[in-house]
Amino acid sequence: MSKNEVLIIGGGLAGCEAAMQIASRKIKARIIEMRPNKMTPVHKTGNLAELVCSNSLKSTNPVTANGILHQEMRKLGSVVMKAADFARVPAGQALAVDRVVMSKKIEEMLLSTGYVEIERKEITSIPEETPCIIATGPMTSEALSKDLSDLLGGEYLYFYDAVAPIVSTESIDKSLTFKASRYNKGEAEYINCPLNKEEYDKFYNELINAEIVQDSHGFEQVFFESCLPIEEIASRGYDTLRYGPMKPVGLRHPSTGQDNYAVVQLRQENKEATMYSLVGFQTRLKWGEQKRVFSLIPALKNMEILRYGVMHRNIFINAPSSIAPTSETLVKKGLFIAGQLSGVEGYVESSASGILCGINAARYIKGEDLIVFPQETGFGSLMNYITSADPDNFQPMNINMGLFPAIEKRFPSKKDKNTAIAQIAEDVFDEFIKTI
Ligand SMILES: Cc1cc2nc3c(=O)[nH]c(=O)nc-3n(C[C@H](O)[C@H](O)[C@H](O)COP(=O)(O)OP(=O)(O)OC[C@H]3O[C@@H](n4cnc5c(N)ncnc54)[C@H](O)[C@@H]3O)c2cc1C
Repeated sequence: MSKNEVLIIGGGLAGCEAAMQIASRKIKARIIEMRPNKMTPVHKTGNLAELVCSNSLKSTNPVTANGILHQEMRKLGSVVMKAADFARVPAGQALAVDRVVMSKKIEEMLLSTGYVEIERKEITSIPEETPCIIATGPMTSEALSKDLSDLLGGEYLYFYDAVAPIVSTESIDKSLTFKASRYNKGEAEYINCPLNKEEYDKFYNELINAEIVQDSHGFEQVFFESCLPIEEIASRGYDTLRYGPMKPVGLRHPSTGQDNYAVVQLRQENKEATMYSLVGFQTRLKWGEQKRVFSLIPALKNMEILRYGVMHRNIFINAPSSIAPTSETLVKKGLFIAGQLSGVEGYVESSASGILCGINAARYIKGEDLIVFPQETGFGSLMNYITSADPDNFQPMNINMGLFPAIEKRFPSKKDKNTAIAQIAEDVFDEFIKTI
C-alpha cells in the first residue's frame, strides 16, 4: 500500500464518512467491505452504508443534541447527510430516508471523487499498515474481532445483550429520593428511589405485562444470567426484583430511618452528573413501554429518558481504556477505530465518528497533529464521554444533551436551556473548524 493511502476496513456509515474526508483532502482511501461475499446477521444487501433497522437519522431540530450533531456534520461535508437529504422521505422533523437510494448515492459520491477504491473481501486480521481505520461496526466478523481483542487486551472487546435506560438528572423528583450507598459503605453515591408495597405491586404488574421488542433479526433469546433484562427477572416471580435490582435491604432512609418495600438505585453516568442510569434495569421493553412502566416509580414520574434501554448483539471496544479522543488507539499509532465499534451508539453518531477518523487519518499522513473537538461541541461531547467514562461500567453512548458541559445558570424552561447549549456548541464549533 502506498504511504499516501488510507486503508478503511468496513464500508458502513463510519467507513464511508471516513473515506469522503480523506478523498476530499486529495488522499486515496481504500475501503475493504466484506459484503456481499460475506454477510452479517443483520445486513440485507451488499450496499455501502446500509441502514440495518429504522430508516431515520432522527431529529434535525438544531436545538436537540442530534440536531447539533447533524449541523456539525454538514459543516464538515458529511456524505451521509448529503445523501440523506437526497434520499429524504416525509417524516416531520425527523430525517427519514429511502435507505436504498441513500446507499447508492453515497457510493456514487465516493467514487466520483476519483480518490476512493472499493474492494470486496473479508479482512481477518488487523493490517500492519498505517494509517488504517477499523470501521467494521457492531457485527464485526469473528476472526477480526478476535484479533482486535488480542491487540487491545482480551477483556477490552465487549458483547452486550441489554442496556439500562439513562435519565436526565433534572427530571428526577429529588423530594422523593434519598442519597445513600448500601449499608452506608463508602460515599452516598447513589440516588435511591423508594417504593411502598402498593407502588411496587402496580409497577410489577405493569412490568410483567408490558410489550417487549420482538427479535426480528433472529438473535437467540438466551441471556447471560448476570445481565438479565429486568422484565425477564420479574417474570420469574413476584419477589425476584426485591431480591435483585430493587433490593431494599441496607438502604434505610438516612433522615427518617424508614425501611422501604423496594428501592431503585440510580447511578451517576457522567462527570457533570447531568445523567443517571437505572441500575440493573437493562431491558428490551418497547421504548413507549419503558416510559410508561418506569415512570410508575414515584421519583421518576416525570423522567426524561436520554437513552432508552436496548437489546441487540453488539461488539464494541472498551473505549475509555483503548482509544484517545482523536479515536486513535492507545496501543498503536496510526490505527483508528471508527463507528459503533468505537463505543458510540446510533447511525448519526457512527457517521460522525467516521468523519473524525477520516480527518485524523489524513492529518496522520500529512504529519499534522491529530484533532480533538472541544467538549462544548456535539463531536467533542460524545468523544469526551466515551473516552473518559468509567471503564468498568462502559456501554456505548448516543448523543444527548446530558453530554454537553452544564451551564451554571437557571433557565425559565428546558427549551431555553437547550437553546443556550446549542448556541455555545455552534459558536465553539465554528471557531474550532477555522483552526483545522
Ligand atoms: C440490530 C441493530 C439495529 C440497529 N438499529 C439502529 C437504529 O434503528 N437506529 C440507529 O441509529 N442505530 C441503530 N443501530 C446501531 C448503529 O447505528 C448501526 O449498527 C450502524 O450501522 C453502525 O455504523 P458503523 O459504520 O459503525 O457499522 P456498520 O454500518 O455495521 O458497517 C460496518 C461494515 O463493516 C463490514 N465488516 C464487518 N466485518 C468486516 C470484516 N472483517 N472485513 C470487511 N468488512 C467487514 C460490515 O459488512 C459492514 O458493512 C443498530 C444496530 C444493530 C446491531
